[in-house]
Amino acid sequence: MPATASHLYPHASSVDDGRLSIGGCDAADLAREFGTPLYAVAEDDLRARAREFRAAMGEGEVIFASKAFPCTAVLRVFEEEGLSVDVASGGELALATSAGFSGDRIILHGNAKSARELEAAVDAGARIVVDNFDDIDKLDALGKPANVLIRVTPGVVADTHAAILTGHAGSKFGFSLAQAPLAIERLTNAPWADLHGLHMHIGSQLFDLEPWRLAVEAIATLGDFPAYDLGGGLAVAYTDRRPPSVTEFVGNMVASANELLGTGKRLSIEPGRALTASAGVTLYTVESVKDVDLPDGNVRFVAVDGGMSDNLRPMLYDAPYQADLVDRVGAAGTPCTVVGKHCESGDVLIRETALHEPKPGDVLVTPVTGAYVYAMANNYNGVPRPPVVFCKDGEARLVVRRETFEDLHGRDV
Ligand SMILES: *Cc1c(COP(=O)(O)O)cnc(C)c1O
Repeated sequence: MPATASHLYPHASSVDDGRLSIGGCDAADLAREFGTPLYAVAEDDLRARAREFRAAMGEGEVIFASKAFPCTAVLRVFEEEGLSVDVASGGELALATSAGFSGDRIILHGNAKSARELEAAVDAGARIVVDNFDDIDKLDALGKPANVLIRVTPGVVADTHAAILTGHAGSKFGFSLAQAPLAIERLTNAPWADLHGLHMHIGSQLFDLEPWRLAVEAIATLGDFPAYDLGGGLAVAYTDRRPPSVTEFVGNMVASANELLGTGKRLSIEPGRALTASAGVTLYTVESVKDVDLPDGNVRFVAVDGGMSDNLRPMLYDAPYQADLVDRVGAAGTPCTVVGKHCESGDVLIRETALHEPKPGDVLVTPVTGAYVYAMANNYNGVPRPPVVFCKDGEARLVVRRETFEDLHGRDV
């Protein structure tokens, strides 16, 4: 009987005699067939998460923050599941449109939108989240009818890494509580603007509902609006620390919104990470294993064929990960440091994880890499970006191909 892998792996995964499968596909076979590094995604997990959010929101709207995993196949799944989509640039807007989203299900964000990006979004019929007075000036100059929300910085500090905190006083995003009334006045009086309501997003990887409730209290002082977009930010488990369930978290959000903003409002939430993170894993090949003796102990470096080019999160936010070898999951291991192949000492994927006798040629897997990983991939050291494979019922489907060396210099003039 295959055992279900630990809580870090997709629901649609199993471990049989130490061998990991994702969506019914043997992980070692995936690595052989598609090469490494490889992003493997359990499609059923994306759909299950989307349905969980929709059920928890009831009548409300669930908007996928596309920056978490911006590729056509992922957007199509969420389009099919009835979600809306958040975009933060002209490029993400073009992706959402080509993936099949109609304008009424697209929301444009950003603290530095160009006049062209605003016009493209208005022409597509998307909602615009107005972030600053310059947005209002640009939309004024455009003069075309636009559906707008106002982003408010509620002045709360959520308990998360400073780099993913966005709702505190002094944030670069949104209008402060002091500026918001003038923005509301200008957009209420602008003949081209249809002001739906207010928007907030206080940060990411949030475990605790309290700061979020304080934020809703703060925006409730700004008046009574038909629509409120409450942002994203639900945490996921990367290690042993577990967040509240989607049902609990969203249920709580909706209940406090009803209490603090009044019932009958059009509510939206914008999860990114919580929709995609745990559906994805990254597969690597171990290239070298090096033991280094230090005065205070031994360090074993396990070096893989990727690193900061395919997962920047550990370097940007000290994001913690764990790893396994795909054919001996659950075997007792010794502490190892997993490093990448890049010419930077900071190219450390995992400071410490236990691996069972790692050796070159082994396939190593890092779970919970379905959010902000593919999205931040780059070509440092001339490493082509990895492909994305969807795994479902034992079938593996390539949805993004691996970059080629020709792609790397294809823009050189
Ligand atoms: C990034 C972002 C989100 C999604 O955040 P997650 O932590 O991935 O849920 C939602 N709304 C806005 C405005 C964002 O910038």
